[in-house]
Amino acid sequence: MTAPYEVLLYYKYSRIADPEAYAAEHRDLCKRLNLLGRILIAQEGINGTVSGTAESCAAYRAALDEDPVTAGIAWKIDPSEEHVFPRLSIKVRSEVVTLELGEEDFSPEDLTATHLKPEEWKEAMKEENVVMIDARNDYEWEIGRFENALLPDVPSFRDLPKWVRDHREELEGKKILTYCTGGIRCEKFSGFLLKEGFTDVYQLDGGIVTYGKSEEAKGEGFEGECYVFDERLSVPVNRTEGAKVVSSCVHCGTPSIRYRNCGWQPCNAQFLCCENCEESFGKFCAPICKEAATMCPAAVIGY
Ligand SMILES: [Zn+2]
Ligand SMILES: [Zn+2]
Repeated sequence: MTAPYEVLLYYKYSRIADPEAYAAEHRDLCKRLNLLGRILIAQEGINGTVSGTAESCAAYRAALDEDPVTAGIAWKIDPSEEHVFPRLSIKVRSEVVTLELGEEDFSPEDLTATHLKPEEWKEAMKEENVVMIDARNDYEWEIGRFENALLPDVPSFRDLPKWVRDHREELEGKKILTYCTGGIRCEKFSGFLLKEGFTDVYQLDGGIVTYGKSEEAKGEGFEGECYVFDERLSVPVNRTEGAKVVSSCVHCGTPSIRYRNCGWQPCNAQFLCCENCEESFGKFCAPICKEAATMCPAAVIGY
């Protein structure tokens, strides 16, 4: 049986002359199809993730595939039982992923590293003299990543260039593999690495999501789950035997991939919490937040 809904993840680097006008038209299209999700539009292209009925998602894909501006998107499609976004947000930005290179900025249409298909990536990971860089944020790789990958302790994509410059020695002379969720951040990040003078750079085509769906790779070598920016919070990747959980509950340390937001509103930190601890301790990231909440219950989310 096919699922009634779909979740789409996609991007396209392509010149959009008038992003504001394009966004207005795009909003009409999404509203007509009753799609929810988040879409960024810039002069350099489009980056989005949406949910809708399977029928609406098919119509949306057809519309973008027909438009010369967005033709050729490599769609990532997940079946779903329902919408996974609370609303529709379409924003015009200066970049579709924010690396903030300023004067040194470039387009991945002009400069990006070689793409490796999942089956090629699976083999490349095993080679000697290889380093793998997780090009995502710290809260993403915390719940899942490729085994042995370098995990930059950066809260945001725009902090990666500095991290690279600080870790130059670890990367120099190595074959560098970069990966992210759906591939868009690596289009830019791998180009940045080339610009920085690294010559042997490769990126995972279609990102972790595509790697997990590949029949050749089956997510091999990935531990934990892949963080996603919707209500599902994470999706499984590794379909081979022995896939493991790499993150743990902040309270008791048992393996867990359950992200929650701290119920003490001024904190609202995202933290990992197992079911048992949530039940016994409440939805708080630390004793201090729980204590604050008892003194000021009005500032508890859901009060
Ligand atoms: Zn726990
Ligand atoms: Zn807290």
